[in-house]
Amino acid sequence: MTKINNLISTIFRKEVLAMEAYKIADAKGLIKLDAMENPYSWSDDIKKDWLKTLKDCHLNRYPDPQAAHLIDTIKQLNQLPEQFEVLLGNGSDEIIQLLLMALPQAVSVLAPDPGFVMYKQLSDCLGLNYLGIPLCADNFDLDMPAMREAIERYQPAVIFLAYPNNPTGNLFSESAILEIIQIANGLVVIDEAYAPFANASFINMLGQYTNLLVMRTVSKLGLAGLRLGYIMGHPKIIEQLNKVRLPYNINTLTQSSADFALSNKFLFEQQTESICKERSILFKKLNELDGIIAYPSAANFILFRTPKNKATEIFLSIREQGVLIKNLSNHGRLLSDCLRVTIGTPQENIAFLTALRKSL
Ligand SMILES: *Cc1c(COP(=O)(O)O)cnc(C)c1O
Repeated sequence: MTKINNLISTIFRKEVLAMEAYKIADAKGLIKLDAMENPYSWSDDIKKDWLKTLKDCHLNRYPDPQAAHLIDTIKQLNQLPEQFEVLLGNGSDEIIQLLLMALPQAVSVLAPDPGFVMYKQLSDCLGLNYLGIPLCADNFDLDMPAMREAIERYQPAVIFLAYPNNPTGNLFSESAILEIIQIANGLVVIDEAYAPFANASFINMLGQYTNLLVMRTVSKLGLAGLRLGYIMGHPKIIEQLNKVRLPYNINTLTQSSADFALSNKFLFEQQTESICKERSILFKKLNELDGIIAYPSAANFILFRTPKNKATEIFLSIREQGVLIKNLSNHGRLLSDCLRVTIGTPQENIAFLTALRKSL
């Protein structure tokens, strides 16, 4: 044993040795309301059309390294002015990774806390100085005095702002974000993973700030299995990121399937609408429960607080009844006693509420 341990400790960086792999909960046999997936699939007619496009894929050849056709579709979909460029990633997770890989050693990366876990996970892995700045405890908005101070003191190379934020679900104040973009000397990435449910975006601000990047993904929209994210911004910034990107990071099946799905926008309109409608029903029902506080959400999930020191017990009891949600209470601080539920189909949401009621 000591031989292998010696080998490992001499080979790997101390940052890697100190990390733990990101754990994904086993959802087998459970109603899956833990990962912000869209619960709906496609009709058989749509699937037939999709399969037709896959028939023309040449799996013996490498994919188009530029994914030119898909990038055009994405530019059109977002009505991106032509002076900006797009870079694709194997999920937006990969874009976060390759952006951080391009930074000098030991620079600072800043994001609000609680925030999306990958910002910290990937920064830690690369030996960067990750700063999680606590949000305001009452409304989960940006704590601007704390943000200003941290930005001035640490001059972060990159600031990540998820808009809406995960796991709190709220949109940060627009004026606060604009101030951050203005005072930051580094890049500011607005992570719009939940844009389909939010009706708010910084895409039309790209022209005003060269240090602004807007990142999106198709995962929460309804294509989590494809693994496709994209980031939009100044072509000179995208050019640098392209050097770090692996040439064939978006496989042929993903390019073709995403192109098909995003060219048929109506595919998701009804689903998104139904998810937003269910979100308001679930929000109301949660807040009617004794001891539960649900927080307003512009995303496809709801964060809610349970009675003191009961969250894990409630989470396990809900799972026992066949519904998997996310337990965030072990993060402590602003998330103590908090659980997060993804909006599912009406039936799934009723199953969740029934299980929650029985757990209180
Ligand atoms: C889910 C999520 C992502 C990751 O998206 P992928 O494209 O599936 O990698 C990025 N940012 C935030 C805020 C998310 O919640």
